Amino acid sequence: MNPDMQSTDTIAAIATPPGSGAISVVRMSGPQATAVLQSCTGKVTQARRATLAHVRDARGQVIDEVVVTYFAGPASYTGEDVVEFSCHGGMLVTRRVLERLLQCGARPAEPGEFTRRAFENGRMDLTRAEAVMDVINAGSDLALRAAQNQLHGAIFRKVEAAVDKLISVAAHVEAYIDFPEEDIAPDTTQELVDAVDAVCAELRALLATADEGRLLREGVRTAIIGAPNVGKSSLLNMLLGYERAIVSDTAGTTRDTIEESVSLGGLRLRLIDTAGLHDSADAIERAGMERSRRAGAEADLVLEVADATLPPARAELPQSTAQHILLLNKCDLPEHPAWQGVQALRISCRTGRGHQELADAITGLFLHGNGGELDTLAAINTRHRYALQQALDYLAAARTGLLSGVSPELMDIDLRAALDALGSISGRVDTEDILTRVFATFCLGK
Ligand code: GDP
Repeated sequence: MNPDMQSTDTIAAIATPPGSGAISVVRMSGPQATAVLQSCTGKVTQARRATLAHVRDARGQVIDEVVVTYFAGPASYTGEDVVEFSCHGGMLVTRRVLERLLQCGARPAEPGEFTRRAFENGRMDLTRAEAVMDVINAGSDLALRAAQNQLHGAIFRKVEAAVDKLISVAAHVEAYIDFPEEDIAPDTTQELVDAVDAVCAELRALLATADEGRLLREGVRTAIIGAPNVGKSSLLNMLLGYERAIVSDTAGTTRDTIEESVSLGGLRLRLIDTAGLHDSADAIERAGMERSRRAGAEADLVLEVADATLPPARAELPQSTAQHILLLNKCDLPEHPAWQGVQALRISCRTGRGHQELADAITGLFLHGNGGELDTLAAINTRHRYALQQALDYLAAARTGLLSGVSPELMDIDLRAALDALGSISGRVDTEDILTRVFATFCLGK
């Protein structure tokens, strides 16, 4: 953030996306909010009561008839006085209202500045602030659920519980610094090691949600592969619910890779429809196949489609660490006897059979840790992951120190470093740098 920008300023921004709509909202926060409101509407409104008002220009001409809602600080989103103007939802009129607020003493808000103020005024910790953007960007039901849990403190509480336990370990160790003539008794050493181990186990469990976090935020990269004509495009269409890819009876018509997103079983799948994985002399098709091999190699999930009416001829699978599901398509027709006993999910893109089973199989594969307990679904982001890893490294050093009897001063350094790393997650021990990076990803008006 620009260091000249003071949180004593009153800030304003259009909080709704650009474009025309029924209404748009201009938001304002800061100590001058009610004064600016009075200058541009001539009104002093009661807190938390929607009030009709006219925003007027300097000559008294009406710019727009608006509904004003005033939230008196500290009981507001930012913790400061906040005024929200619901304007008619046109771009020009909304911009004019904002300009008028700026003329009357507000300054334009930076992206994320409202939420940053909420954080700085103690209205939310950093994990909750980040969750605000996760809620806005959620592309699937489960991503939304995880973001809402985070917004209500799921990650914050887990980290704080670890911090509390570590503080008591550090307090023990520091007691020995104060009484250097005493050695740490073997019983106490074991207790401290156990406490550190317990914290490490909790942190590792949280760290293990990082992959789920990425899948929830970015979606599961899904490659559909299989020989020509087995029904790959039909599968894509079934999942999408409309005709997106070209389905045809001629082998090899799906030449290009097409990427689409679909919400399945609460997860977002980023589907990559691929050219058939078969040998072809046709150069364009070969280029398409090369791309699909690459897509398969980069995927989190490979859906291998086979034709149930033909004998098995397994496609050459790309080298990857992806999860894999074999789908036996066209099961509305008689199954070829050679498939008997083969473990596969039997589906029909024509009738929709197997759609739900596929959704269940995918959620089972990717949300095994959390799928059953949606209320505690937590999905840490890259910043949390880094801090957790750092904390674990310092705790490993502290543990070794405890067991080998190094001086309490040295152990204390490691414990404090671990606490600092954990503190940076909730923003308790923060640096300007972390804050600037976190809030720079926000949209204007948030
Ligand atoms: P792709 O080349 O693997 O993408 O295969 P397509 O999706 O283009 O399908 C090839 C042919 O199989 C088309 O004629 C589809 O109508 C047909 N097809 C796809 N799925 C099914 C299915 O579940 N049942 C039946 N009977 N035909 C299917």
